Amino acid sequence: MEKLCPECGEKIIGRVDKKFCSDYCRNSFNNKLNKDSKNLIRNINNRLRKNHRILESFSLKDGKTKTTRYKLLDKGFDFEIFTSIYTTKKGTIYYFIYDLGYLPLDNDYYMIVKRE
Ligand SMILES: [Zn+2]
Repeated sequence: MEKLCPECGEKIIGRVDKKFCSDYCRNSFNNKLNKDSKNLIRNINNRLRKNHRILESFSLKDGKTKTTRYKLLDKGFDFEIFTSIYTTKKGTIYYFIYDLGYLPLDNDYYMIVKRE
């Protein structure tokens, strides 16, 4: 069975276990893979940083404050990006972005909290 190079599509000639037609293709294929995963990490880091900045922009009183879903979305908050989840004994779920977290309340209200 003939194998094709995943980088350039050329027929691979040589050893059976050869995956690429040349060192050049192997290198450029692997470099692209690395670049994609670096981009993914960079994008998520940027989104985390943005979310953290947004939570930071609310002034807290005794380590917390209340806001609405609308206000968070308006600032560009992304509810899918957080660093950890904390569930209390009562089953209340907090979503954290590093040291700042939020808790969904009724009627699209949110509680923003700071972890000590
Ligand atoms: Zn090739």
